[in-house]
Amino acid sequence: DGGHISASHVDALVRKHAPLCMRNLHESLRRDKHLKHYGRLQYNLFLKDMGLPIEEALLFWRRSFANKTDEQFSKEYKYNIRHGYGLEGKRVNYPAKSCVRIITQDQPGPQDNHGCPFRHFSPANLSAALATHYGLAPAEQSEILTAVKAEHYHVGCTRLFELTHAKKGIRKGDGLGNGESVNHPNRYFERSWEVSR
Ligand code: SF4
Repeated sequence: DGGHISASHVDALVRKHAPLCMRNLHESLRRDKHLKHYGRLQYNLFLKDMGLPIEEALLFWRRSFANKTDEQFSKEYKYNIRHGYGLEGKRVNYPAKSCVRIITQDQPGPQDNHGCPFRHFSPANLSAALATHYGLAPAEQSEILTAVKAEHYHVGCTRLFELTHAKKGIRKGDGLGNGESVNHPNRYFERSWEVSR
């Protein structure tokens, strides 16, 4: 039940269950104590869909932006976080972005951390991220890198899910269940959490 997630759970949950796009945003946020606009947008909606309530989200972002003063945080970031939760402006309860949207819209520039690493990272950076965040040796990475080279980004992401959940009984071709491939970061997260219980 996602309703009980608090700010202090985010680190562990994301490191254990999130797909690479969100893991990358999380680690960038930890490293830089900041994320640029589209990165905040992508990650905020993911956390909302994960079940992080607005008060916990504000706490999470406030703590993460450790170099900002309370005043800066309130002035520059609070509105957009609340906006993502449908609490400001037109009060639209925005859905978390799907893979298609992340892959095709708002292309990241060199200073950005949003987007889909399977689509937007160089092969060398993707390989390094797979090794660092998921402990995948080069031999284990080869199928993923081949799929990505053929521009089958979701296939690469699905294969990553299968490889990193092999100990939970997930086999090649299982995907997120019934052979379904990854089409949404939150479905990846939910399935990972589900099979790990
Ligand atoms: Fe994220 Fe989807 Fe890319 Fe996987 S395929 S890293 S879930 S955007």
